[in-house]
This record gives sequence, C-alpha cells and structure tokens, in this order.
Amino acid sequence: MDKITKSALMAYALSDEGAKLLVTKMPEVNLDTLMICQENLLKAIEFVKNPENNAAGLAAPQIGVAESWFVMKHGRDQSVVTVINPVIKGCMGSKQHVESCFSELLPARVKRSKTVTVSYTTLSGQVWCRIFETLDGLDAQVFQHEYDHLQGILIAKRGEVIKKE
Ligand SMILES: [Zn+2]
Repeated sequence: MDKITKSALMAYALSDEGAKLLVTKMPEVNLDTLMICQENLLKAIEFVKNPENNAAGLAAPQIGVAESWFVMKHGRDQSVVTVINPVIKGCMGSKQHVESCFSELLPARVKRSKTVTVSYTTLSGQVWCRIFETLDGLDAQVFQHEYDHLQGILIAKRGEVIKKE
C-alpha cells in the first residue's frame, strides 16, 4: 500500500490476501531486531493524524503488515501513540457502542469493557519503553477495537452487524 487512504484500506480488506490477514492473530514484534517496519508505521501515524480521515486508530494488519502493533489517538490531547505488543491485563464494567471500521463495510453494535488495564511498548524519543496504564472512555474503547485487530477479530465477529435499511 502506498499512501494510506480510506478507499485503499477497504480495497485491501476486500482482497483475498487482506481478508485472510484480518482474521489472523499477529505475531509479536521482536524489539531486539526491530522487525517493525518504520515506513509502514509512519504511514499509519500520518493517516490517523489527518483530520480528513476521522480515524481513532489503525492496526498493522489493516495495511497488510503481519506484526502486533497499532497506532491510536490517546488522552486529553488526542496525540497519536504507537502501541507495540499490547496486553490487556484487566478489565472492568461493560458498555455497548456502535463502531465502524475502515476494514469493514457495515458498522456493528459491540460490547466493550468500560476500563482496561493494559501494557504495551512504545517509542519515547529514541528509546523503547514499556507502559502500564488504565484507560477509560474513548481510549479504552479504541484500544480494545485495535487490540481485537491483532487477535484477528473484526467487529462483525465481536458484535452484531447493523444492516442498512
Ligand atoms: Zn477496525
């Protein structure tokens, strides 16, 4: 995928190769060998930052990269963070949301935990560091949506698809 656009994401999702990757569990990124493809990561960050795309996050398998990472808007300032090898360590409460996905044609009603305690590796300056934090609200919802992508779970499988009238 060259520059990431909404139509390129959907075309990829509908291709044989893309459809297969989207339902596959992603292998962990080996930070020692920096297997993460920086160019793809930068493209994903650029896509989420672009206000025209109205994107909360984007996961590696959505752009054809078989690695366990995603990028998402995070916190009060909605800065875009890189989330590598994420783990959900605990969750509390539940709430139903209507979610859309750049890799699916229809939205779905999905049940998510209200708060999640997570850990992940991110890039801080030029150094990898492991973050532990508890997320709630939109951050918790987006984290769970993107995390599901790394498990090969799309919203159509997680929830109930909303069909157009
Ligand atoms: Zn998605």
